Amino acid sequence: LIVPRLLLTRSCIRRLHSTVRTAMALRFDGRVALVTGAGGGLGKEYALLLANRGAKVVVNDLGGTWTGEGKSSKAADEVVSLIRANGGTAVANYDSVEDGDKVVKTAIDNFGRIDILINNAGILRDRSLLKMTEKDWDLVHAVHMRGAFMVTRAALLYMRKQDYGRVVVTSSTSGLYGSFGQINYSAAKMGLVGFSHTLAMEGEKYNILSNVIVPIAYSRMSATVMAPEMGEIMKPVYVAPIVAYLCHEDCTDTGGVFECAGGWAGKVRLQQSQGTTFNNPITIEQVRDKWDEVCDWTRVTHHRTAAGTYKSLE
Ligand code: NAD
Repeated sequence: LIVPRLLLTRSCIRRLHSTVRTAMALRFDGRVALVTGAGGGLGKEYALLLANRGAKVVVNDLGGTWTGEGKSSKAADEVVSLIRANGGTAVANYDSVEDGDKVVKTAIDNFGRIDILINNAGILRDRSLLKMTEKDWDLVHAVHMRGAFMVTRAALLYMRKQDYGRVVVTSSTSGLYGSFGQINYSAAKMGLVGFSHTLAMEGEKYNILSNVIVPIAYSRMSATVMAPEMGEIMKPVYVAPIVAYLCHEDCTDTGGVFECAGGWAGKVRLQQSQGTTFNNPITIEQVRDKWDEVCDWTRVTHHRTAAGTYKSLE
């Protein structure tokens, strides 16, 4: 008789816990967040949301054009003013993400630490491969890849000392699936997936987690390829809560890749077909004859690390 009563009590407590959890707002009080490219589009929404939930925010933005020309303090200043008008705490930084040390220094000088880093800054210089100049390639890689590297490396120094960090890296469907006319951007964005995977491994023992976000949202950048009517459906504000959750201490996911758009989010991963083993000596003809088995998706596996691939060889 006692057992059912105990079970009942436990299930009541569980339900109570889940109700309290649902009711409890996720906050970032005491946390310092750096959002790169936060002067507009997606980054602005991340900065506003984190500040609204108690984080002290560094609003970084170079303030140039979407093709990476010029600079201005206006974009970052406007977002900082908005945050302060809402009662939040924020400072601006106008350096390029290529100067990662300076960007991170703004967080340390003003707030003494850095808990959250959202690598969001980006530009486009679209052209098909034969028309692409070295400048188009280099500029896109400088901002997306080198920028993420420079800022993250500078932030990691402090995150390690704190034994705490949440990093978000921004990729794109152009990287995951390819996109006509964006070979420079696609390569950089897929490169950032590898970047985050390795950071997730190197950071784990210091409680530094890293995930990739693959957003779609109407912004100054995407307006170049998206119809204006998409603006209502694909608001950056719909992506921000997903990114903010990845930045919260309650989220323990790391090494993940999350696609999100228009109020939807899903997780993406690489899969491996079961494949086939060739007989020795391996001939080209044998490979041809067994090619369907190599490409057969009816039985798939997913590995979290490269060690999984070696296991498939056993
Ligand atoms: P956006 O142009 O509105 O925002 C990018 C911001 O980065 C701008 O404010 C810009 O001034 C800033 N920036 C550019 N170069 C910089 C540099 N060197 N240093 C500091 N700041 C710099 O575009 P968005 O759509 O909000 O894009 C945000 C991120 O999301 C980008 O990395 C972009 O590639 C990625 N993304 C966007 C979409 C989308 O649908 N909007 C899709 C996939 C990926």
